[in-house]
Amino acid sequence: DNLREGAEQKVVFITGRVHPGETPSSFVCQGEFQHPIARVLREHLVFKIAPMLNPDGVYLGNYRCSLMGFDLNRHWLDPSPWAHPTLHGVKQLIIQMYNDPKTSLEFYIDIHAHSTMMNGFMYGNIFEDEERFQRQAIFPKLLCQNAEDFSYSSTSFNRDAVKAGTGRRFLGGLLDHTSYCYTLEVSFYSYIIGGTTAAVPYTEEAYMKLGRNVARTFLDYYRLNPLVERVAIPMPRLRKEKPPPYKYPLTRGPARNHPNGKGDKKSSVNHKDPSNSF
Ligand SMILES: [Zn+2]
Repeated sequence: DNLREGAEQKVVFITGRVHPGETPSSFVCQGEFQHPIARVLREHLVFKIAPMLNPDGVYLGNYRCSLMGFDLNRHWLDPSPWAHPTLHGVKQLIIQMYNDPKTSLEFYIDIHAHSTMMNGFMYGNIFEDEERFQRQAIFPKLLCQNAEDFSYSSTSFNRDAVKAGTGRRFLGGLLDHTSYCYTLEVSFYSYIIGGTTAAVPYTEEAYMKLGRNVARTFLDYYRLNPLVERVAIPMPRLRKEKPPPYKYPLTRGPARNHPNGKGDKKSSVNHKDPSNSF
C-alpha cells in the first residue's frame, strides 16, 4: 500500500544505541528487520531506522555519552546541529514527516538496554486523554503476548521531569494523538518467563528474537497476519513458537509474561518509574 502513488504513508520510526554502551539495543534493532515477515510489513509500512544515534560514543567505547560528553537522550528539546548532530538530524526528519500531510507517523520506538531490570519492557507517556492513554497500552500488551521475555508488568508510563529531554518524552509531547512513542528497554542480563522463577540469561540470539517479535507485533497491530499465511514464508527460526493469534482479548490483560506470576492490571498505570538510569 505504501508504494501506491499519492497514498498516505504510515511510518514507524525506530532509533537505537543513543547510549553507546547499550549493545543489546543493536541486536534488538537488527532482529526486527531480519524476520521474513519484515518484507510483508514493508509493503504496508515505511520503516525509518536510525540504528546508532551515538556513533562517536560507540567508536570510543563510551558507556553513555557522545564524543563531546553529552548524554544525547537528554537533549531532544533543543539539539544543536554541531553538538548533537545525529539527534538534530533525526528530529528534523521527524518534524518534517509530522508536517507532511501524506505521512502518518504512527510509531516512534527508541531502543535501550537496562542495567538493573530484568526482561524486555517499555516506557510510555501519560496523557490527560484517557482513551489515548489506553490506546498507547495496546502495542506493549500485544508484544507481551508475542514475546515470552517481554514483561507488561514492568512497562510503565511516566512524565518524570528527569526524562523530559528523552526522545520518547519529547516526541510524545510534540506529536498528536495518532502517534505512539515508546522507549523499548531490554535487560543487560536476563529474563524470567511468567510462571517460572529461574532467570534465563540473554544471548545475542534472544535479543534478536525480541526484535523479531516486535516485528510480529506490528503484523498483529495492523491485522496483516492473513497476508503472511498467504505468501507461505518459511520461518525455520520460529518453528518452536506458537503462531500468533488473530484476536486478542485485550480487556483480560496479559498476565502470562509476568516475572512474579501475579496479575498486573494495576501496574498498567505505574506512575513510579522503576529506574532512573535509561
Ligand atoms: Zn539507554
